[in-house]
Amino acid sequence: MSDRFDVVVIGGGPAGYPAAIRAAQNKLTVACIDEWRNTDGSHAFGGTCLNAGCIPSKALLESSELYHRAREEFAVHGIALTGVALDLAAMQRRRAAIVKTMTGGINALFKSGGVTPVQGHGRLLPGNRVQVTAADGSQRILQAAQVVLASGSVPVRLRSVPHDGRRIVDSWNALEFDAVPARLGVIGAGVIGLELGSVWRRLGSEVTILEATEQFLPIADQAIAREALRHFKKQGLDLRLGAKVASAAVAGEVVDLRYTDARGEHSLQVDKLVVAVGRRPFTDDLLAEGTGVQVDARGFIEVDEHCRTAAANVWAVGDVVRGPMLAHRGKEEGVMVADLIAGRYGEVNYRTIPSVIYTSPEIAWVGQTEEQVKASGRPYKVGTFPFAASGRARAMEAAQGMAKVIAAADDDEVLGVHVIGPMAGELIGEAMLAMEYSASTEDIQRTIHAHPTLSEAIHEAALAVDKKAIDAINR
Ligand code: FAD
Ligand code: NAD
Repeated sequence: MSDRFDVVVIGGGPAGYPAAIRAAQNKLTVACIDEWRNTDGSHAFGGTCLNAGCIPSKALLESSELYHRAREEFAVHGIALTGVALDLAAMQRRRAAIVKTMTGGINALFKSGGVTPVQGHGRLLPGNRVQVTAADGSQRILQAAQVVLASGSVPVRLRSVPHDGRRIVDSWNALEFDAVPARLGVIGAGVIGLELGSVWRRLGSEVTILEATEQFLPIADQAIAREALRHFKKQGLDLRLGAKVASAAVAGEVVDLRYTDARGEHSLQVDKLVVAVGRRPFTDDLLAEGTGVQVDARGFIEVDEHCRTAAANVWAVGDVVRGPMLAHRGKEEGVMVADLIAGRYGEVNYRTIPSVIYTSPEIAWVGQTEEQVKASGRPYKVGTFPFAASGRARAMEAAQGMAKVIAAADDDEVLGVHVIGPMAGELIGEAMLAMEYSASTEDIQRTIHAHPTLSEAIHEAALAVDKKAIDAINR
């Protein structure tokens, strides 16, 4: 194998592997170096997302939701089930099989696309050389015209909450539990806390989530966050806001937690504790002295809007650089960089990056929240539509939540779309496209939406912006 490449990508997650594939599509010679190790020691491309994040969590969210619905909802449809039982081992085998298929798919894509896969640790040396250390300790140097850094992120750990990997764990461990914990504690009511808390709650755990901030889901539109909090509490998630964890320690077969909130000091005992307080960029042993790549105070590699680092011909994409830690953001950055390297056009529209929280009801949004628009001082108008008025949502027994459209009062431009309800993550696709094309609410109002579909909720919310909703009372 030649050790000279047009492009060397370090990291084979959802930011790195698309960069490698697009670079190969652009007729460049490419190697993608990745060091991921699964718990059984095997290597797999796909990074956090495919191995320990997006994909396994969505597999368990789907399975646990079906289990919950079979037990709680099927009777409403007139389907009488007896003996519904959980086979967690089978559920976990399915999760693992999906991960294996998806990560194996990347090997196949590399093979057919002409990307050279390299297993091992990559370290950037001055002069665009990349040192690769394989699992057996052997080393080689790759020479690259261009280097793309895509080393991703790892969970943040709290000093006062020492992990033991068995009782006090991170999100990866919590995806692979082989028994349902009777009492599950979660630190952090962010995206991971809510998704994994939902999985284990549906499977029978008593779930307590401790969140440091007083505000619930500050990243979301607060009308949507309030609605979500109401549903999550009804589902039995014990969400404690303003809870500052002082310490947690394993004591025999339980975890003892101490925390304070506005009412004073508290203690809590759980069987397992998941720490989900955010992730940090991962750059351990990535950059040798003298590369010229700059890292900021929080550990992110510094890049411009086109993901160029301070070093010539070195780029960085995905979780290791600024921006929301989302797989699709990393993917678009990887593709943009590979196109720019090939002398083609490349751009990421950071204003239309969607967010989805895969709880039930699902939460999704794109663009600005009402709070952000208000703070910007731009006059605006809002339309909402409740899924309670959607025939399709009723038929699905999922008539909870709402769609909300925020538009500029002056030129009617859509500024933000927020959905809490069934298939919100799919529904938001329409809003993304609309915003990408700088649509007005009138554009959405005049677009025919099939009946009865959930997408009518977006249509009606857009109509409600001008008090023209047909299927709901205009307020
Ligand atoms: P990573 O996926 O972290 O990949 C980096 C890769 O580089 C890894 O394989 C790592 O081993 C390798 N690497 C690092 N350093 C080196 C080196 N020096 N040499 C060689 N290899 C190296 N995002 C979503 O958009 N949707 C979701 O539904 C979603 N769900 C999530 C659920 C969970 C539980 C978690 C933890 C995360 C989730 N995320 C989700 C976030 C998503 O996983 C990340 O945003 C995404 O994986 C970032 O991609 P990346 O390629 O930048 O980094
Ligand atoms: P997060 O930033 O979403 O949430 C962390 C939460 O922990 C915050 O609410 C924060 O206030 C709280 N917190 C921080 N320190 C705390 C402390 N000491 N005690 C109590 N609470 C504390 O981070 P996450 O949930 O760990 O997820 C990490 C990243 O992974 C996120 O950036 C997210 O975008 C991504 N992710 C995305 C998805 C998705 O797209 N559906 C799913 C999972 C993860």
